[in-house]
Amino acid sequence: MKHVFGPVSSKRLGQSLGVDVLPPKSCTWNCIYCQLGKTRIYVTERREFFPREEILAEIKQAIDGSAAIDWITFVGSGETTLYKGLGWLIREIKKITDIPVAVITNGSLLSFKEVRDELLQADAVLPSLNAGSAELFDRIDRPAPGFTYERHIEGLIEFRKVYHGMLWVEVMLIAGMNDSTEALQDIALVLEKVKPDTVHLVLPTRPSTESSVRLPSGNAIARARLILSHVVKVVHPVKGSMNLKSTADIIETVIAITKRHPLQERELRNALDELIPDEPDQVELVIRQLLGSGKFKTVTLQDGEVYWVPAGND
Ligand code: SF4
Repeated sequence: MKHVFGPVSSKRLGQSLGVDVLPPKSCTWNCIYCQLGKTRIYVTERREFFPREEILAEIKQAIDGSAAIDWITFVGSGETTLYKGLGWLIREIKKITDIPVAVITNGSLLSFKEVRDELLQADAVLPSLNAGSAELFDRIDRPAPGFTYERHIEGLIEFRKVYHGMLWVEVMLIAGMNDSTEALQDIALVLEKVKPDTVHLVLPTRPSTESSVRLPSGNAIARARLILSHVVKVVHPVKGSMNLKSTADIIETVIAITKRHPLQERELRNALDELIPDEPDQVELVIRQLLGSGKFKTVTLQDGEVYWVPAGND
């Protein structure tokens, strides 16, 4: 399928069916930690990049063919709310299933009433907030001209006023950037105004194009939890684990996942171990076949963790 992938297991969203409504990479930001590579040209106008009916047909097909889906999650090759048919898609999903809908977004378009209105129908919205000052926001998220920090915060506050679903703000914690006491206190002050239901601390565990992006120390994570939990419940999500049991075609599934984010080899091996228990030779064979397909290459981070990315993804 072109737009739908998974379901992929995640701690936050259980078995999550991913829906990608964008061509890569379409974003209003160019975050230093982005796993999709640099934003070469900012996309700032909403468009119907693909026919909405085509996407809905894939969602229907995936729901019919998979027993266990906990969430239908809009996520993918950039900023999801750039897709102009998003509100229509959520509405149509609601007509055919009770499975809750989540939207992962950077939140940069929430300053538009049209976007806020469309997201009202979602059961959970997960916008980003990585900085408590304009200066840090510009350094970390590097937005398109006009997508100012003030506009971003105003959009989040306005959305919270009208949205009664789960608002889970994501804070990407980056060593030396936003993990100091001062930077975290600034973020806490903004969170006090936004009033999300929870904050999810996320870490730059996947390879990005910027070598300056480093994982925060254990002390910094503890500091973030302590400071932010004064104003909101903080969740430090355990990484999701992959499930290949309902996968008809392993190679297609791995292609679909690596197109959207680098895949930790350890996670892939664990999923294969579960799929083919007590057959380590078979697991190795599948790994060799996948690599031998020429569709992937591996990247090793400073901490020794190996990730799979699409071949030719520089
Ligand atoms: S908002 Fe997401 S897709 Fe856009 S640049 Fe940042 S991390 Fe990448």
